Amino acid sequence: MSFRTIVLASRNKKKTREVSEILAAGGFSVIPVTDFPDIPEVDEDGQTFAENAAKKATQVARQLNQWVIGEDSGLIVDALNGAPGIYSARYSGADATDERNNARLIAELATISDDKRGAGYICSVALSNPQGKIRIACEGTCRGRILREANGEGGFGYDPYFLIPEYHLTFGQLSSVVKHRLSHRARAFAKFIPLLQNICHEF
Ligand code: IMP
Repeated sequence: MSFRTIVLASRNKKKTREVSEILAAGGFSVIPVTDFPDIPEVDEDGQTFAENAAKKATQVARQLNQWVIGEDSGLIVDALNGAPGIYSARYSGADATDERNNARLIAELATISDDKRGAGYICSVALSNPQGKIRIACEGTCRGRILREANGEGGFGYDPYFLIPEYHLTFGQLSSVVKHRLSHRARAFAKFIPLLQNICHEF
């Protein structure tokens, strides 16, 4: 199979790896935006995941004059009224790391009982043409529960605390093969890939 290449407007290495693995199954290979050192970071000032995904895609597409995929994702916790939401990557502040974000999440939920720890991941994906017009936009979600302690070292971000109830395991424990079937990202790209295949002759 010959792979078509497409730029992904993400600077998160682990997310880029997941997207690359998912898109490879659809016949696409990903070029990370970090391969273009002159492209500045996108200011994620949208109010929704969809707005931020579209902004990443359109801004980088215009700058590179290429087709670009934007992806924005995060965690929505029921007991925190949807936080951290679009702020998932920077939940612990300017110097955020996965460890600090998780520490804040667990502290915020310390007094929340086991039956009220429901949460969901959301992933928005957008494709921009080189002129900055959005041609495809899709969203995927995945429900789970936030544990009190980390389990597993797979995935990234909040995964070691994110339990998939059907498996009694976290995304930190489940293999990438399973995550790529169940996750918000897998579900968004399951809608996105057939649409991408339909228009990739325009690339
Ligand atoms: P973005 O790169 O601005 O979209 O921020 C994504 C952030 O949401 C990540 O830094 C994680 O904190 C969180 N997140 C999104 N997807 C996942 C996932 O699959 N596992 C764990 N955390 C995730």
